[in-house]
Amino acid sequence: MRKFLFPAVTLALLSPAAFSQDRVPNGWNDPFPPFKIMDNLYYVGTKELASFLFVTPQGDILMNTGYASSVPVIEGSVEKLGFKFTDIKILIAGHAHPDHVGGDNAVKDLTGAQVVVGRVDAEKTKDFHPPGKEHPIDRLVDEGDTVSLGGTTLTAHMMPGHTRGCLAWSTTLKENGKSYYTFIECSLNGQFLNVLDHYPGMIDDFRNTFKKARTFPVEVFLSSHASFFNMAAKYEKLQTRGPNDPNPFVDPEGYKAHVDQYEKSFEAAVAREAQGGGQGQGRGQGRGRGQGQGQAQGQDKQ
Ligand SMILES: [Zn+2]
Repeated sequence: MRKFLFPAVTLALLSPAAFSQDRVPNGWNDPFPPFKIMDNLYYVGTKELASFLFVTPQGDILMNTGYASSVPVIEGSVEKLGFKFTDIKILIAGHAHPDHVGGDNAVKDLTGAQVVVGRVDAEKTKDFHPPGKEHPIDRLVDEGDTVSLGGTTLTAHMMPGHTRGCLAWSTTLKENGKSYYTFIECSLNGQFLNVLDHYPGMIDDFRNTFKKARTFPVEVFLSSHASFFNMAAKYEKLQTRGPNDPNPFVDPEGYKAHVDQYEKSFEAAVAREAQGGGQGQGRGQGRGRGQGQGQAQGQDKQ
């Protein structure tokens, strides 16, 4: 059983099932030991779905809630670190897919946190909520807007393509007297164009986003999926880190390699579509206005 877990997770990341609201890809909600990344930033997500907690004297900021079913795992991680889940005052989002904002209602109910969502992705975000409820949204942000609490300031950066309003967040963390430009990337994943919301201008958006991605002076590299930034391997390194060893999450080269890799897989997907090999779906700009259609397609293709 165990030996099949890693391939299952890897395959699932590449799978359209990730876009389904109800079906959690195998292993994604498994707990992962929560840990301090650097300064006041902690990893509190699941094995694959990254959630981050900024702890400040005035309360905490949570980024990404995973699926609704991920929230108990996140809550357990926050408490394991000795923090109170109810100290979360602000919830910020990366992008409107159910594996990142599906738990927003539960976190809002448990904490009363202010829910901050990118303006462009707001309408899509509203698709994800438990039956009979509305998705909570308290504040909309645009390019360059900031969220601040207790000395921590995060800046929003539009990185459209994976979703129309995909948001990355940057901040500065300190360790041993040095400051590090910290970047929580949104998602550059365009290797399955047919399951994304194929909006007009999406291809151009992706290409501009890959250009923009290279303009950030990224030192601490984080993202919405643990596998995007090799979280498990870096966590292992952190466990055996000596006093003079660098923090493994300082990884500017890893960030650049990630951008290169996802640009390549995106362009390969575009080329496949141009040759009519895009699995017969998603070639028309008018396809898939609603997430529902993408889900329906995704569910039979895992
Ligand atoms: Zn996504």
